[in-house]
Amino acid sequence: MRPMLTASPYDMVPVKDAIEAILALASPLESEVVDALSAEGRTLAETSRSTVAVPAGARSAVDGYAVRAADAGERALIRHEISAGREQAVQVGLGEAVRIMTGGGLPAGADAVVMVEDTEERDGRLVMHRDVPAGANVHRTGQDIAERQIVLEAGTTLGAAEIGLLATVGQVRVKVYRRPRVSVLATGDELVEPAEEPPPACIRDSNRYALLAAVREAGGDPAWSGVARDDEDELARHFEAALAPADVVITSGGVSMGTRDLIKPLLERLGTVHFGRVNFKPGKPLTFATVRDRLVFGLPGYPVSSLVTFEVFVRPALLKMQGRPRLHRPRVDVELEDELRPDPVRPEYQRAVVRWASGRLLARTTGAQGSSRLLSMAGANALLEIEAGGEPLSAGRRVPALLTAEILPE
Ligand code: AMP
Ligand code: MG
Repeated sequence: MRPMLTASPYDMVPVKDAIEAILALASPLESEVVDALSAEGRTLAETSRSTVAVPAGARSAVDGYAVRAADAGERALIRHEISAGREQAVQVGLGEAVRIMTGGGLPAGADAVVMVEDTEERDGRLVMHRDVPAGANVHRTGQDIAERQIVLEAGTTLGAAEIGLLATVGQVRVKVYRRPRVSVLATGDELVEPAEEPPPACIRDSNRYALLAAVREAGGDPAWSGVARDDEDELARHFEAALAPADVVITSGGVSMGTRDLIKPLLERLGTVHFGRVNFKPGKPLTFATVRDRLVFGLPGYPVSSLVTFEVFVRPALLKMQGRPRLHRPRVDVELEDELRPDPVRPEYQRAVVRWASGRLLARTTGAQGSSRLLSMAGANALLEIEAGGEPLSAGRRVPALLTAEILPE
Protein backbone atom coordinates (compact mmCIF):
# COMPACT_ATOMS: atom_id res chain seq x y z
CA MET A 1 0.00 0.00 0.00
CA ARG A 2 1.17 3.52 -0.78
CA PRO A 3 1.98 5.67 2.23
CA MET A 4 -0.44 8.46 2.97
CA LEU A 5 1.24 11.89 2.76
CA THR A 6 0.05 14.43 5.29
CA ALA A 7 1.40 17.55 3.58
CA SER A 8 1.24 18.34 -0.12
CA PRO A 9 4.63 18.78 -1.78
CA TYR A 10 3.10 21.42 -4.05
CA ASP A 11 3.23 25.16 -3.41
CA MET A 12 -0.08 26.91 -3.09
CA VAL A 13 -0.07 29.39 -5.99
CA PRO A 14 -2.29 32.47 -6.15
CA VAL A 15 -5.13 32.43 -8.71
CA LYS A 16 -3.53 35.22 -10.74
CA ASP A 17 -0.20 33.38 -11.04
CA ALA A 18 -1.96 30.15 -11.99
CA ILE A 19 -3.88 31.84 -14.80
CA GLU A 20 -0.71 33.56 -15.99
CA ALA A 21 1.20 30.27 -16.05
CA ILE A 22 -1.56 28.65 -18.10
CA LEU A 23 -1.90 31.50 -20.59
CA ALA A 24 1.85 31.66 -21.09
CA LEU A 25 1.68 28.12 -22.44
CA ALA A 26 -1.56 28.37 -24.43
CA SER A 27 -1.14 29.86 -27.88
CA PRO A 28 -3.44 30.32 -30.85
CA LEU A 29 -3.69 27.19 -32.99
CA GLU A 30 -3.14 27.20 -36.74
CA SER A 31 -5.91 28.47 -38.99
CA GLU A 32 -8.26 26.65 -41.33
CA VAL A 33 -10.63 27.75 -44.06
CA VAL A 34 -14.31 27.18 -43.34
CA ASP A 35 -17.62 28.10 -44.87
CA ALA A 36 -18.92 31.42 -43.53
CA LEU A 37 -22.30 29.76 -43.02
CA SER A 38 -20.92 27.66 -40.20
CA ALA A 39 -18.34 30.09 -38.83
CA GLU A 40 -20.27 31.66 -35.97
CA GLY A 41 -18.21 31.81 -32.81
CA ARG A 42 -14.96 31.39 -34.75
CA THR A 43 -12.25 34.04 -34.78
CA LEU A 44 -10.84 35.47 -38.00
CA ALA A 45 -7.20 34.65 -38.62
CA GLU A 46 -6.83 37.28 -41.36
CA THR A 47 -8.10 40.76 -41.99
CA SER A 48 -10.96 40.89 -44.43
CA ARG A 49 -10.91 43.69 -46.97
CA SER A 50 -13.69 44.30 -49.45
CA THR A 51 -12.77 44.02 -53.13
CA VAL A 52 -15.98 45.77 -54.11
CA ALA A 53 -17.90 48.94 -53.29
CA VAL A 54 -21.27 48.42 -51.64
CA PRO A 55 -23.54 49.37 -53.23
CA ALA A 56 -21.69 48.83 -56.49
CA GLY A 57 -23.69 51.59 -58.21
CA ALA A 58 -26.09 54.34 -57.05
CA ARG A 59 -29.49 52.92 -56.06
CA SER A 60 -32.79 54.27 -54.90
CA ALA A 61 -33.31 54.07 -51.14
CA VAL A 62 -37.11 54.35 -51.39
CA ASP A 63 -40.07 53.64 -53.65
CA GLY A 64 -40.76 56.78 -55.70
CA TYR A 65 -39.54 58.65 -58.76
CA ALA A 66 -36.05 59.40 -60.01
CA VAL A 67 -35.76 63.06 -60.97
CA ARG A 68 -33.30 65.85 -61.61
CA ALA A 69 -33.37 67.92 -58.44
CA ALA A 70 -32.74 71.21 -60.25
CA ASP A 71 -35.88 70.91 -62.41
CA ALA A 72 -38.96 72.79 -61.29
CA GLY A 73 -42.68 72.10 -61.57
CA GLU A 74 -44.32 68.99 -63.02
CA ARG A 75 -42.22 66.39 -64.75
CA ALA A 76 -43.07 64.31 -67.78
CA LEU A 77 -43.21 60.63 -66.75
CA ILE A 78 -41.08 58.27 -68.77
CA ARG A 79 -43.15 55.11 -69.39
CA HIS A 80 -40.79 52.80 -67.60
CA GLU A 81 -40.43 51.28 -64.19
CA ILE A 82 -37.07 50.57 -62.56
CA SER A 83 -37.01 47.93 -59.85
CA ALA A 84 -34.33 46.14 -57.81
CA GLY A 85 -32.37 43.58 -59.75
CA ARG A 86 -33.56 44.70 -63.18
CA GLU A 87 -30.94 46.60 -65.13
CA GLN A 88 -32.62 49.18 -67.44
CA ALA A 89 -31.17 51.57 -69.97
CA VAL A 90 -33.20 54.63 -69.02
CA GLN A 91 -32.12 58.25 -69.35
CA VAL A 92 -33.88 60.95 -67.35
CA GLY A 93 -33.80 64.18 -69.34
CA LEU A 94 -34.67 67.75 -68.50
CA GLY A 95 -38.17 67.92 -66.94
CA GLU A 96 -38.54 64.15 -66.82
CA ALA A 97 -39.11 61.57 -64.10
CA VAL A 98 -39.32 57.78 -63.95
CA ARG A 99 -40.86 55.37 -61.45
CA ILE A 100 -38.24 53.64 -59.36
CA MET A 101 -38.52 51.04 -56.58
CA THR A 102 -36.26 50.57 -53.54
CA GLY A 103 -32.96 49.05 -54.64
CA GLY A 104 -33.48 50.01 -58.30
CA GLY A 105 -30.40 51.42 -60.06
CA LEU A 106 -30.50 55.25 -60.32
CA PRO A 107 -30.93 56.02 -64.03
CA ALA A 108 -28.52 58.25 -65.92
CA GLY A 109 -29.45 61.90 -65.71
CA ALA A 110 -31.31 61.61 -62.41
CA ASP A 111 -29.66 62.80 -59.19
CA ALA A 112 -32.44 62.43 -56.61
CA VAL A 113 -35.45 60.31 -55.75
CA VAL A 114 -38.71 61.67 -54.42
CA MET A 115 -40.72 59.35 -52.21
CA VAL A 116 -44.02 58.15 -53.64
CA GLU A 117 -45.78 59.49 -50.52
CA ASP A 118 -44.77 63.04 -51.57
CA THR A 119 -46.13 62.80 -55.13
CA GLU A 120 -49.12 62.27 -57.36
CA GLU A 121 -49.34 61.04 -60.96
CA ARG A 122 -51.65 63.22 -63.04
CA ASP A 123 -52.27 62.63 -66.78
CA GLY A 124 -48.92 61.00 -67.40
CA ARG A 125 -47.11 63.70 -65.41
CA LEU A 126 -45.52 63.68 -61.97
CA VAL A 127 -46.63 66.28 -59.44
CA MET A 128 -44.24 66.67 -56.52
CA HIS A 129 -45.65 67.95 -53.23
CA ARG A 130 -42.19 68.86 -52.06
CA ASP A 131 -38.85 69.58 -53.69
CA VAL A 132 -35.90 67.31 -53.06
CA PRO A 133 -32.25 68.32 -52.97
CA ALA A 134 -29.70 66.58 -55.16
CA GLY A 135 -28.72 63.25 -53.59
CA ALA A 136 -32.05 62.86 -51.75
CA ASN A 137 -32.95 59.19 -51.17
CA VAL A 138 -30.01 58.04 -53.24
CA HIS A 139 -27.94 55.18 -51.86
CA ARG A 140 -24.55 56.29 -53.18
CA THR A 141 -21.90 54.00 -54.69
CA GLY A 142 -19.69 52.79 -51.83
CA GLN A 143 -21.87 54.50 -49.20
CA ASP A 144 -21.91 51.40 -46.98
CA ILE A 145 -18.54 49.88 -47.84
CA ALA A 146 -15.83 51.50 -49.93
CA GLU A 147 -13.78 49.42 -52.34
CA ARG A 148 -10.61 48.19 -50.53
CA GLN A 149 -12.07 49.08 -47.12
CA ILE A 150 -11.25 46.76 -44.22
CA VAL A 151 -14.53 45.24 -43.13
CA LEU A 152 -13.30 42.93 -40.35
CA GLU A 153 -9.95 42.95 -38.57
CA ALA A 154 -8.05 39.74 -37.86
CA GLY A 155 -9.00 38.65 -34.34
CA THR A 156 -12.69 39.47 -34.76
CA THR A 157 -15.01 36.83 -33.40
CA LEU A 158 -17.77 36.13 -35.89
CA GLY A 159 -21.41 36.59 -35.04
CA ALA A 160 -24.48 37.11 -37.20
CA ALA A 161 -23.59 40.66 -38.32
CA GLU A 162 -19.99 39.75 -39.14
CA ILE A 163 -21.08 36.72 -41.17
CA GLY A 164 -23.59 38.93 -42.98
CA LEU A 165 -20.76 41.35 -43.81
CA LEU A 166 -18.61 38.56 -45.20
CA ALA A 167 -21.52 37.45 -47.38
CA THR A 168 -22.07 41.07 -48.52
CA VAL A 169 -18.54 41.27 -49.87
CA GLY A 170 -18.63 37.75 -51.30
CA GLN A 171 -16.22 36.12 -48.86
CA VAL A 172 -17.99 32.86 -48.15
CA ARG A 173 -14.81 30.92 -47.37
CA VAL A 174 -13.06 32.39 -44.36
CA LYS A 175 -9.80 31.78 -42.58
CA VAL A 176 -10.39 31.18 -38.87
CA TYR A 177 -8.42 29.69 -36.01
CA ARG A 178 -8.91 25.99 -35.50
CA ARG A 179 -10.91 24.84 -32.51
CA PRO A 180 -8.86 23.06 -29.84
CA ARG A 181 -9.49 19.32 -29.64
CA VAL A 182 -10.15 18.55 -26.02
CA SER A 183 -10.23 15.07 -24.49
CA VAL A 184 -12.18 14.70 -21.27
CA LEU A 185 -11.21 11.74 -19.11
CA ALA A 186 -12.99 10.95 -15.87
CA THR A 187 -11.24 8.90 -13.21
CA GLY A 188 -12.58 6.96 -10.27
CA ASP A 189 -13.38 3.40 -9.18
CA GLU A 190 -16.78 4.61 -8.03
CA LEU A 191 -18.04 5.93 -11.37
CA VAL A 192 -20.72 4.37 -13.51
CA GLU A 193 -22.25 5.68 -16.74
CA PRO A 194 -25.04 8.15 -16.01
CA ALA A 195 -27.56 5.89 -17.76
CA GLU A 196 -26.77 3.07 -15.32
CA GLU A 197 -28.07 2.38 -11.85
CA PRO A 198 -25.10 2.84 -9.49
CA PRO A 199 -24.50 -0.05 -7.08
CA PRO A 200 -24.02 0.91 -3.43
CA ALA A 201 -20.75 2.88 -2.99
CA CYS A 202 -20.86 4.03 -6.59
CA ILE A 203 -22.03 7.27 -8.22
CA ARG A 204 -22.89 8.44 -11.68
CA ASP A 205 -20.12 10.12 -13.67
CA SER A 206 -21.60 13.60 -14.02
CA ASN A 207 -18.32 15.45 -14.53
CA ARG A 208 -17.60 14.06 -17.95
CA TYR A 209 -21.06 15.10 -19.16
CA ALA A 210 -20.75 18.56 -17.61
CA LEU A 211 -17.19 19.11 -18.85
CA LEU A 212 -17.95 17.98 -22.38
CA ALA A 213 -20.76 20.55 -22.46
CA ALA A 214 -18.47 23.21 -20.98
CA VAL A 215 -15.82 22.50 -23.62
CA ARG A 216 -18.38 22.85 -26.39
CA GLU A 217 -19.73 26.08 -24.89
CA ALA A 218 -16.18 27.44 -24.85
CA GLY A 219 -15.79 26.68 -28.57
CA GLY A 220 -13.68 23.54 -28.13
CA ASP A 221 -14.08 20.33 -30.05
CA PRO A 222 -14.58 17.73 -27.34
CA ALA A 223 -13.66 14.07 -27.49
CA TRP A 224 -15.18 11.35 -25.35
CA SER A 225 -12.41 9.58 -23.47
CA GLY A 226 -14.34 7.40 -21.05
CA VAL A 227 -13.59 6.57 -17.45
CA ALA A 228 -10.30 5.27 -16.05
CA ARG A 229 -10.22 3.23 -12.86
CA ASP A 230 -7.91 4.32 -10.04
CA ASP A 231 -5.15 1.98 -11.13
CA GLU A 232 -1.77 3.20 -12.33
CA ASP A 233 -1.55 1.08 -15.46
CA GLU A 234 -5.14 1.53 -16.51
CA LEU A 235 -4.94 5.27 -15.91
CA ALA A 236 -1.72 5.56 -17.93
CA ARG A 237 -3.29 3.63 -20.81
CA HIS A 238 -6.43 5.77 -20.82
CA PHE A 239 -4.41 8.94 -20.51
CA GLU A 240 -2.23 8.10 -23.52
CA ALA A 241 -5.34 7.33 -25.58
CA ALA A 242 -6.87 10.65 -24.52
CA LEU A 243 -3.66 12.57 -25.25
CA ALA A 244 -2.96 11.19 -28.72
CA PRO A 245 -5.63 13.09 -30.70
CA ALA A 246 -5.86 16.13 -28.43
CA ASP A 247 -4.50 19.65 -28.00
CA VAL A 248 -5.78 19.69 -24.44
CA VAL A 249 -6.59 16.92 -21.97
CA ILE A 250 -8.92 17.50 -19.06
CA THR A 251 -9.07 14.87 -16.36
CA SER A 252 -11.52 14.84 -13.49
CA GLY A 253 -10.76 13.43 -10.05
CA GLY A 254 -7.66 11.86 -8.57
CA VAL A 255 -5.67 15.02 -7.83
CA SER A 256 -6.04 15.15 -4.02
CA MET A 257 -4.04 13.58 -1.21
CA GLY A 258 -5.63 10.11 -1.14
CA THR A 259 -3.72 6.92 -1.89
CA ARG A 260 -5.90 6.42 -4.99
CA ASP A 261 -5.25 9.91 -6.35
CA LEU A 262 -2.88 9.02 -9.17
CA ILE A 263 -3.06 11.93 -11.60
CA LYS A 264 -0.25 14.07 -10.19
CA PRO A 265 2.33 11.25 -10.11
CA LEU A 266 1.32 10.22 -13.64
CA LEU A 267 1.79 13.77 -14.96
CA GLU A 268 5.12 14.10 -13.13
CA ARG A 269 6.26 10.92 -14.87
CA LEU A 270 5.09 11.93 -18.35
CA GLY A 271 5.68 15.66 -18.49
CA THR A 272 6.05 18.84 -16.43
CA VAL A 273 3.70 19.78 -13.63
CA HIS A 274 3.55 23.60 -13.50
CA PHE A 275 1.46 23.76 -10.39
CA GLY A 276 -0.41 21.28 -8.23
CA ARG A 277 -2.34 23.50 -5.82
CA VAL A 278 -4.10 26.85 -6.11
CA ASN A 279 -5.10 29.17 -3.30
CA PHE A 280 -8.69 28.96 -4.36
CA LYS A 281 -12.04 27.51 -3.38
CA PRO A 282 -13.63 25.34 -4.69
CA GLY A 283 -10.85 23.30 -6.29
CA LYS A 284 -7.60 23.73 -4.37
CA PRO A 285 -5.89 20.61 -5.83
CA LEU A 286 -6.23 21.84 -9.44
CA THR A 287 -3.19 20.62 -11.35
CA PHE A 288 -1.74 22.01 -14.55
CA ALA A 289 0.88 20.22 -16.62
CA THR A 290 2.23 19.98 -20.11
CA VAL A 291 2.86 16.61 -21.66
CA ARG A 292 4.50 16.55 -25.10
CA ASP A 293 3.41 20.15 -25.77
CA ARG A 294 -0.19 19.42 -24.92
CA LEU A 295 -1.88 21.25 -22.05
CA VAL A 296 -3.22 18.99 -19.31
CA PHE A 297 -5.64 20.14 -16.64
CA GLY A 298 -6.18 17.81 -13.69
CA LEU A 299 -9.49 19.05 -12.33
CA PRO A 300 -10.73 17.97 -8.89
CA GLY A 301 -13.47 15.35 -8.76
CA TYR A 302 -16.11 17.27 -6.84
CA PRO A 303 -18.62 18.34 -9.48
CA VAL A 304 -18.72 22.02 -8.50
CA SER A 305 -14.94 22.20 -8.16
CA SER A 306 -14.47 20.69 -11.57
CA LEU A 307 -16.82 23.15 -13.27
CA VAL A 308 -15.60 26.24 -11.41
CA THR A 309 -11.96 25.42 -12.11
CA PHE A 310 -12.91 24.84 -15.75
CA GLU A 311 -14.56 28.26 -15.85
CA VAL A 312 -11.74 30.17 -14.19
CA PHE A 313 -8.64 28.34 -15.48
CA VAL A 314 -9.43 26.18 -18.53
CA ARG A 315 -11.87 28.35 -20.46
CA PRO A 316 -9.45 31.30 -20.92
CA ALA A 317 -6.86 28.87 -22.33
CA LEU A 318 -9.36 27.40 -24.80
CA LEU A 319 -10.35 30.91 -25.91
CA LYS A 320 -6.73 31.92 -26.37
CA MET A 321 -6.12 28.84 -28.52
CA GLN A 322 -9.03 29.96 -30.74
CA GLY A 323 -7.41 33.36 -31.27
CA ARG A 324 -10.01 35.17 -29.19
CA PRO A 325 -8.91 38.64 -28.12
CA ARG A 326 -10.90 38.66 -24.85
CA LEU A 327 -10.19 35.71 -22.60
CA HIS A 328 -11.97 36.63 -19.41
CA ARG A 329 -15.54 37.15 -18.34
CA PRO A 330 -16.66 40.69 -17.65
CA ARG A 331 -15.95 41.65 -14.05
CA VAL A 332 -18.47 43.98 -12.42
CA ASP A 333 -19.20 45.18 -8.91
CA VAL A 334 -22.40 43.82 -7.43
CA GLU A 335 -24.26 44.45 -4.19
CA LEU A 336 -24.91 41.54 -1.87
CA GLU A 337 -28.58 40.95 -1.15
CA ASP A 338 -27.85 38.82 1.92
CA GLU A 339 -25.06 38.42 4.40
CA LEU A 340 -22.25 36.21 3.14
CA ARG A 341 -19.56 34.28 5.01
CA PRO A 342 -16.11 34.28 3.43
CA ASP A 343 -13.85 31.26 3.75
CA PRO A 344 -11.40 32.04 6.56
CA VAL A 345 -8.27 31.12 4.60
CA ARG A 346 -8.88 30.83 0.87
CA PRO A 347 -10.36 33.24 -1.70
CA GLU A 348 -13.66 31.73 -2.74
CA TYR A 349 -15.65 31.89 -5.97
CA GLN A 350 -19.23 31.72 -4.77
CA ARG A 351 -21.97 30.95 -7.26
CA ALA A 352 -24.65 33.60 -7.48
CA VAL A 353 -27.56 35.00 -9.42
CA VAL A 354 -27.12 38.64 -10.43
CA ARG A 355 -30.11 40.78 -11.41
CA TRP A 356 -30.87 44.39 -12.26
CA ALA A 357 -32.88 46.38 -9.73
CA SER A 358 -33.44 50.09 -10.39
CA GLY A 359 -30.09 50.52 -12.08
CA ARG A 360 -28.17 48.47 -9.49
CA LEU A 361 -26.75 44.99 -9.82
CA LEU A 362 -27.85 42.81 -6.93
CA ALA A 363 -26.37 39.39 -6.17
CA ARG A 364 -27.77 36.52 -4.20
CA THR A 365 -25.79 33.32 -3.75
CA THR A 366 -27.32 30.07 -4.88
CA GLY A 367 -27.55 28.64 -1.36
CA ALA A 368 -25.24 26.12 0.27
CA GLN A 369 -21.90 26.31 -1.54
CA GLY A 370 -20.66 22.76 -0.93
CA SER A 371 -18.42 21.53 -3.72
CA SER A 372 -20.50 18.40 -4.29
CA ARG A 373 -23.73 20.38 -4.65
CA LEU A 374 -24.17 21.00 -8.38
CA LEU A 375 -27.44 22.72 -7.60
CA SER A 376 -25.32 25.64 -6.42
CA MET A 377 -24.07 26.01 -9.97
CA ALA A 378 -27.29 25.39 -11.87
CA GLY A 379 -28.88 28.68 -12.90
CA ALA A 380 -25.98 30.75 -11.56
CA ASN A 381 -24.90 33.62 -13.82
CA ALA A 382 -21.97 34.86 -11.76
CA LEU A 383 -19.05 33.88 -9.61
CA LEU A 384 -18.54 36.25 -6.71
CA GLU A 385 -14.86 36.74 -5.94
CA ILE A 386 -14.80 36.69 -2.16
CA GLU A 387 -11.53 37.44 -0.38
CA ALA A 388 -10.61 35.20 2.54
CA GLY A 389 -11.51 36.64 5.93
CA GLY A 390 -13.06 35.97 9.30
CA GLU A 391 -15.81 38.58 9.27
CA PRO A 392 -19.15 38.06 7.51
CA LEU A 393 -19.91 40.52 4.70
CA SER A 394 -23.19 42.25 5.39
CA ALA A 395 -26.03 42.76 2.90
CA GLY A 396 -25.37 45.82 0.76
CA ARG A 397 -21.61 45.21 0.57
CA ARG A 398 -20.12 45.55 -2.91
CA VAL A 399 -18.04 42.65 -4.18
CA PRO A 400 -16.49 41.86 -7.58
CA ALA A 401 -18.30 39.30 -9.73
CA LEU A 402 -17.42 37.48 -12.93
CA LEU A 403 -20.49 37.38 -15.16
CA THR A 404 -20.77 33.92 -16.67
CA ALA A 405 -24.18 34.37 -18.29
CA GLU A 406 -26.85 37.00 -18.91
CA ILE A 407 -27.85 39.27 -16.05
CA LEU A 408 -31.48 38.71 -15.06
CA PRO A 409 -33.84 41.56 -15.91
CA GLU A 410 -35.79 43.48 -13.23
P1 AMP B 1 -11.54 12.85 -6.12
O1 AMP B 1 -11.09 14.22 -6.57
O2 AMP B 1 -11.25 11.80 -7.10
O3 AMP B 1 -11.03 12.54 -4.75
O4 AMP B 1 -13.11 12.95 -5.99
C1 AMP B 1 -13.72 13.84 -5.09
C2 AMP B 1 -15.19 13.59 -5.01
O5 AMP B 1 -15.79 13.85 -6.28
C3 AMP B 1 -15.53 12.16 -4.67
O6 AMP B 1 -16.65 12.16 -3.79
C4 AMP B 1 -15.91 11.55 -5.99
O7 AMP B 1 -16.80 10.49 -5.88
C5 AMP B 1 -16.51 12.73 -6.74
N1 AMP B 1 -16.30 12.54 -8.16
C6 AMP B 1 -15.13 12.20 -8.74
N2 AMP B 1 -15.28 12.10 -10.08
C7 AMP B 1 -16.56 12.36 -10.34
C8 AMP B 1 -17.33 12.40 -11.54
N3 AMP B 1 -16.77 12.13 -12.73
N4 AMP B 1 -18.63 12.72 -11.45
C9 AMP B 1 -19.19 13.00 -10.26
N5 AMP B 1 -18.52 12.99 -9.10
C10 AMP B 1 -17.22 12.67 -9.13
MG1 MG C 1 -11.21 9.77 -7.21
